[in-house]
Amino acid sequence: MKLGVDYYPEQWPADRWATDAQMMAELGLTYVRLGEFAWSLLEPADGQFDFSWLERAMTILANENLKLIIGTPTAAPPPWLTHQVDIVQRNVDGLPWSPGSRRHACANNPDYRRYSQRIVTELLQRLGDHPAVAGWQIDNEFGCHATGRCYCDHCRAAFQVWLQTRYGSLDRLNQAWGTVFWSATYTEWAQIPLPRTAPAQHNPSLLLDFRRFASDSWVAYQRLQIDLVRRWSPNRPITHNYLGGNEDTCEIDYFDLAADLDFVSWDNYPQGSAGPHHVALNHDMMRGFKGRPYWVMEQQPGVVNWHPYNRPVPPHLVRLWTYQGLGHGAEAVVYFRWRAARYGQEQYHAGLLRQDGSLTGSYREVAHFLRDLAAVPPISRRPAKVAILIDYADWWALQIDPHQHDFSYLKVVTSIYQDLWAAGINVDVIRRSDSIDGYKVVIVPSPNLIDAAQALRWQQFVEQGGRLLVTFRAFVKEQSNIWSDQPLPAGIDTLLGVQVEDYLGLPPDMRGAARNASGGLSFPYWRWAELLKPTTAQPLLFYNQFYWRDQVAATQNKVGQGVAVYAGCWFEHLLPQTLWQALGLDELAVPFSLPNDVEAIAIDLADGGEGVLLLNHNAEPKTVHLHRPGVSLLLNLPPTTLITLQPRDVAILRYE
Ligand SMILES: [Zn+2]
Repeated sequence: MKLGVDYYPEQWPADRWATDAQMMAELGLTYVRLGEFAWSLLEPADGQFDFSWLERAMTILANENLKLIIGTPTAAPPPWLTHQVDIVQRNVDGLPWSPGSRRHACANNPDYRRYSQRIVTELLQRLGDHPAVAGWQIDNEFGCHATGRCYCDHCRAAFQVWLQTRYGSLDRLNQAWGTVFWSATYTEWAQIPLPRTAPAQHNPSLLLDFRRFASDSWVAYQRLQIDLVRRWSPNRPITHNYLGGNEDTCEIDYFDLAADLDFVSWDNYPQGSAGPHHVALNHDMMRGFKGRPYWVMEQQPGVVNWHPYNRPVPPHLVRLWTYQGLGHGAEAVVYFRWRAARYGQEQYHAGLLRQDGSLTGSYREVAHFLRDLAAVPPISRRPAKVAILIDYADWWALQIDPHQHDFSYLKVVTSIYQDLWAAGINVDVIRRSDSIDGYKVVIVPSPNLIDAAQALRWQQFVEQGGRLLVTFRAFVKEQSNIWSDQPLPAGIDTLLGVQVEDYLGLPPDMRGAARNASGGLSFPYWRWAELLKPTTAQPLLFYNQFYWRDQVAATQNKVGQGVAVYAGCWFEHLLPQTLWQALGLDELAVPFSLPNDVEAIAIDLADGGEGVLLLNHNAEPKTVHLHRPGVSLLLNLPPTTLITLQPRDVAILRYE
């Protein structure tokens, strides 16, 4: 793994650049990303370009053998442009964003697209063959600040065209959307609205298609730039820096966005997450979006500036975060940013250097990490035997109609992931439609939309010995977001051997538990419960309370050589022991017990050895009892089965 920094030479005097470059090289960095917010300097007036300062900075960095990732500058259109041309998005009330920050332009605005193409073309023609350019980053954080969906008239026209392509005729659209409901039958394409603010909810089919359209709009906007890079700077890999997964950062389908990229990168600010398991999930999602190693293009280097409370970042945490990236398969970790800013919106955001140019503790932790890395053989994450299958359309459909206020697709995914993570199981997070060959266990969290081809693939997987878990709210709706006319889960009820008789959204004051057949074990659930009627499946768990007491909560169906498990309710730990056993997950877990928030990642060493990377995310020391002796590669000690990890410390262990 290589390290780098995000650097803004335009924010510092030019006579400082050589010092910065020397310091970066001395620290042992490989990559520098720059340029992604510099439009107003690169094109100071309409059609007048100045790339000389950027080229000088690039040459200075290149003289220190640093490799450069150049960001295209389109995330922050300059004031002259927004002043003379209307390129800004309209919000859900139809009102324009104010210019003056970033991400305020519309992907479907023809003028924004034209000006974007021009600045990117000029940049590429001037610097595309610079020998230090190691890659390109398109724009910056599409969709950040909830800007993934725009409600302007350009978008409305483009949406209507998008719908014509998808449905071909209005008859088909009216049928697919069920527009007979609330008198919404369309007789001209031009009648179809954007889902701006209305007295009551818009048609959920329109809402889902609008989300698909908005996502496609950014994929197409990105492709506009990618085509230019391929032409003018061939053979340089192209990426975009993704956001970590949250309910408000899922506006763009990252699988679709990844299809045109050479590699995915993401911006890892762990303090915005639900905990170290959530950061681990993000890493695994990033690896899954393209099915290959990825980068961290912005790594939190210390305190950030945008939370209500910007928590202190204690010593060793930046090194620990870097190790977590290494363990999950990151090819590079790039710290945001080299030096803290003296002006602008992020003055309170830390860098590896302070505003005055002095070194922070994080700088020393980066140096520490690089010393570590030089002392151990290369390690790689062992390929996963468990896959979680996710899909943006399911995510969106469940956001549109959560039915229960706290229902969150991401929380379902995260809860499943957390149980696997806590047992040290390496997991891949891949697309619902991806191949699942080679996995032993496949988990499909709440696949709300029906897909017959996928159901067939899962059936074959189980017949051939695979272990499948599907959770509640499965195969309820057709792809256009209308309810199936078949018994639920529609089209996989035979595979699962069960039908859903009723579904219940549970308010916070209704929590229950479900017991196993002997009554010896009981597992709490909340938020969602389905009353199951097994057809060929064997009941695994039964409800304990309420009027649905004794009805079935979870089942397993033996099919061919494998088993298909259905979880009908949202267990507080979504993989309670009974389901865990039905899926045979113990044989895939690390064979020793893990203290809370100690992460274990099974690794292979380059010289053929096997081992484990242990990360202590706690503020206290933790001791791990290994099942067999291991050598700690970072410490020169004899083999042992007892490893004590200091707070936020790591161990790379090779089994004897
Ligand atoms: Zn728009």
